Amino acid sequence: MLGTLLFALIALNSDISFSSPCPECFVLLYPDRDSSSGFTDYRCGNLSYDGHTGTDFAVADEAKMRSGVTVRAAAPGRVLRIRDGVPDRKVSDLNQVKGQECGNGLVIDHGRGWESQYCHLRQNSVTVRPGQQVDRGTPVGLVGQSGAASFPHVHFEVRHQGKTIDPNGGIPLNNSCSTNKTALWQQPIAYIPTALIHSGFSPQVPTMAEVEAGKWHNYQIKATDPSLIFWTRSYGVKAGDRVTMTMVNPDREQVVDYKNTLTKDNRIFFIYTGSRKVVPGTWTVTFQLDRGNQKLIDISQTILVK
Ligand SMILES: [Zn+2]
Repeated sequence: MLGTLLFALIALNSDISFSSPCPECFVLLYPDRDSSSGFTDYRCGNLSYDGHTGTDFAVADEAKMRSGVTVRAAAPGRVLRIRDGVPDRKVSDLNQVKGQECGNGLVIDHGRGWESQYCHLRQNSVTVRPGQQVDRGTPVGLVGQSGAASFPHVHFEVRHQGKTIDPNGGIPLNNSCSTNKTALWQQPIAYIPTALIHSGFSPQVPTMAEVEAGKWHNYQIKATDPSLIFWTRSYGVKAGDRVTMTMVNPDREQVVDYKNTLTKDNRIFFIYTGSRKVVPGTWTVTFQLDRGNQKLIDISQTILVK
């Protein structure tokens, strides 16, 4: 009897397991585990939105997307259907992508009623065809921003017998958060509620759109630039979080000493500071985000201006 029971448990646990469809990405949004008009991720945090059905594996900006980030089959199976040819663009009006919300993507049949879907892939990047067998990790396309996407990512969705499953908890979405059910990931995917997405420099006040597009990605400040701006973009920032930014010029004068306590939650938090006087030499900048007595983000960078 014990032998039979043990066998049954093992069979259930090994029914399916998924690998990350994008090992180079970070998870920005999880499926919504709240069946009401509110939303919650599987850890009872706010990395979701009402009605979200997948896990969004994101890259920092469109520059990273353009560099080509591979999307991989999360488990072995057979490709059921694909779509390609939808342009990559940040969508503000959902009517622009009506009927093509998933953008370029594919669905893989893993057998025993399991399916996985991959959305928003880069235009003309889908490399598999319907009927093709894929292994775990087979490249299927590139991370893009096609369909109903407001940032470059792959939306990864799991279904079992037609029902959407949260792979982060292994159960249907209408079950609330804080489950202790086992995740369906072959390797654990860390839950990071707050983190820096990227940071950099610009010679003028940057807009969020420019930073999302990767315009100031790796920009090198020159002594002839009109200003030296240090910018950061983070996710999962909450009301009550304390922000500190500092800047020290090559003469070791502190030209920025900014402190602020945030009054509202920010899914994406964009902030910059800077100096209108640019002199050659080594500058040091810092950005910190504190919650209670936890230091959630703490970066310090030096740059050499020539
Ligand atoms: Zn999504």
